[in-house]
Amino acid sequence: MLKNIFDGLSSQAARPKILVVDDQPVNIHLINEIFKQDLDVLMATSGIAALDLCKSQAPDLVILDVVMPDMTGYDVCRALKTDPLTRDIPIIFLTSLSEEQDEIFGFELGAVDFINKPISPIVVKSRVATHLRLKLQTDLLRAIGLTDGMTGIANRRRFDETLDQQWRTCERDQKPLSLIILDVDFFKTYNDHYGHLMGDQCLKTIAHALEKNIRRPTDLVARYGGEEFACILPTTDSVGALNRAVELLNAVRNLKIEHAMSEVAREITISAGVATLIPNRSNSLLDLVGCADKALYLAKNGGRNRVQVVDELLLPST
Ligand code: GH3
Ligand code: MG
Ligand code: MG
Repeated sequence: MLKNIFDGLSSQAARPKILVVDDQPVNIHLINEIFKQDLDVLMATSGIAALDLCKSQAPDLVILDVVMPDMTGYDVCRALKTDPLTRDIPIIFLTSLSEEQDEIFGFELGAVDFINKPISPIVVKSRVATHLRLKLQTDLLRAIGLTDGMTGIANRRRFDETLDQQWRTCERDQKPLSLIILDVDFFKTYNDHYGHLMGDQCLKTIAHALEKNIRRPTDLVARYGGEEFACILPTTDSVGALNRAVELLNAVRNLKIEHAMSEVAREITISAGVATLIPNRSNSLLDLVGCADKALYLAKNGGRNRVQVVDELLLPST
């Protein structure tokens, strides 16, 4: 009856990945035998190794032994729940402890379930399948919530979340954070002339061209609003950001999307405002966005189809 319990889960683009943590290799191998057909199984025999694997491999679920030397399962659970990178990974405790108090303690630490030793393959399979399904559905909903429906690139919410995260990272490391805001030139007349559907198509094409020109995994291109896009470049100074902005402008212009009504070219062009600062206590995210906005305004006023930089690092401090 439970034969196809993982149907629909293992047919996802990537096979779901679970981590099994137990100081007794024999237990790990037993669980591996149960799941290896349907899932990728990572294994750790200590709490420290488990934490490392969670950070580097981002498993979809952890099966965690409670009683281990050095670090107990409870300690591992606590550590996973306090790190934003790992706190959403569901944890199932695997234990020979059968006191209600132990289970309550585990649930209070954020575990989603308990499985008792000795292991019953059918019980383990069923519980893991249920929690995996929930986890993958939550991931999917979250991904949809962070994606712009029309262009398929990151949306404004993802932009806001990423900028916030990168702000804190660059503040901690005292590295420059750059932001490019890009706006399509004379897009209102494009819509008026070619129609709204062609306008939509044009925005999709531009979005993909911008995304293709992203280099580092930490860079992000997002749809910022209507016909505006934004690019977050962590650990990038203003010279680097200016170069990236010029490349993005060229990439869009090279699409050669006809725009007969444009006053600056025969094809679609964009303008870009670039801002850079090193986050600290006396500036804020709003300063970075404000500077990029100001730079974009200057690029538009300066004739469009160009990049303008406002570099906070070069401004006299007040
Ligand atoms: P500028 O060069 O100064 O940026 O001029 P513009 O015409 O591009 O700027 P304006 O802000 O006057 O017009 C932006 C236009 O973008 C108007 C709006 O209808 C259009 N637009 C915004 N979002 C979408 C969209 O999702 N699809 C389409 N087709 N058009 C959109
Ligand atoms: Mg605009
Ligand atoms: Mg515009």
